Amino acid sequence: MNLHAPVRPDWTCAGCGGHWPCHTRRSQLLAEFDGAPASLTLLMGGHFIDAAQDLRTEPAHLLYERFMGWLRQQPRPDDDQEP
Ligand SMILES: [Zn+2]
Repeated sequence: MNLHAPVRPDWTCAGCGGHWPCHTRRSQLLAEFDGAPASLTLLMGGHFIDAAQDLRTEPAHLLYERFMGWLRQQPRPDDDQEP
């Protein structure tokens, strides 16, 4: 059972009331998708699209940072091809 679920259409966290994905949920997602970062990116991409439709007054770049921006901050030890 996951208490840190998004509450739509506001995209707040049912567990802690913060903006979803909250810090706790991000940690949970990273643990759940350990070893499958592409799958996590696809999942968050879907949430990003849904949130963009719900939160039409929110600037797109802020939504992108909120849903996708934290993903690229994770270490990727197998990927040293990036400039
Ligand atoms: Zn939460």
